[in-house]
Amino acid sequence: MAKTRIAIVGLGKIARDQHVPSLAASDAFELAGVASPHNSLAGVPSYGDLQTLLQRIPDIEAVALCTTPQVRYETARLALQRGLHVLLEKPPGVTVSEVLALEALARKQSVALFASWHSRHAPGVEPARTWLESRAIRTVTVTWKEDVRVWHPGQRWIWKAGGLGVFDPGINALSILTRILPGELLLEQAQLRFPGNCETPIAASLRLADARGTPISVELDFLHPGPPSWDIDVQTDAGRLSLSHGGGQMRLNEQPVPGLRGQEYPDLYARFATLVAARAVDADVRPLQLVADAFLCGQRIEVEPFVE
Ligand code: NAP
Repeated sequence: MAKTRIAIVGLGKIARDQHVPSLAASDAFELAGVASPHNSLAGVPSYGDLQTLLQRIPDIEAVALCTTPQVRYETARLALQRGLHVLLEKPPGVTVSEVLALEALARKQSVALFASWHSRHAPGVEPARTWLESRAIRTVTVTWKEDVRVWHPGQRWIWKAGGLGVFDPGINALSILTRILPGELLLEQAQLRFPGNCETPIAASLRLADARGTPISVELDFLHPGPPSWDIDVQTDAGRLSLSHGGGQMRLNEQPVPGLRGQEYPDLYARFATLVAARAVDADVRPLQLVADAFLCGQRIEVEPFVE
């Protein structure tokens, strides 16, 4: 079968680290163009914006939007209006209403829309979900801490409204939680720490619960020195399930679970290929909704200015 001709919009860190190599190895997609204001990819026709790219390469069928979140909606809308299939990097928008509008437009246009959550494709996530299905969950603890200077050097957009601050990585934890825990999650309380010179928080403490009132605590920190902690611990009636390395590793009662399979971005593109074939929509807004809820009800605490 012919490969779907796809363009990458926004050639930054994640596009170069993950999307370009995953597309090069894909048997479903062919990278046919790039649209990015200041970057081009050797060997691939590159233009400064999507509009120009679509004029020059009219047979593009799909786009992967790897831009900063603040420009995602307008770019996605243009692509959907042109009848293209759209993959959104996380977060799928800067507001929940943007994502709902895109979902409605994709359905109207009968094209695929994939609001992707790459962490859900980490090898431990589906095994954790299956194991937890038949357990009584007692408590959940999320520790998502990293050094922003190491992982996001020079990314000023993170500190601007819509950039999410510490929720840029933290939403990955919420995307895993909303996948592995049965039922709906409620945000009960939030404390958000904003540097005096930033529009987004640098740390956050959240308290959530599931429908049975199971306590779920989430600690997010962008000023964590040394190796990152991207960990989720679930205490159950059958002992402790631990996900570490952002869902890449799983332990049951301290014993590593062997034979976990899968790679985040190749699996993410395999899912997108299925959606494209079916012209279907997969746009789960729950991780973004929880972040929005934290901003709605969270207590704002000002902390010292952030200087990179
Ligand atoms: P980044 O390195 O700052 O790259 C963002 C890119 O967006 C820039 O290269 C910029 O292109 C492009 N851009 C900005 N406005 C644009 C527009 N109007 N049209 C087209 N392109 C535009 O950021 P990143 O780390 O790759 O993150 C991008 C997104 O991926 C974020 O939503 C982030 O949460 C997500 N993500 C990041 C990671 C990670 O490890 N970094 C992991 C997973 C997901 P120019 O440079 O050409 O101006």
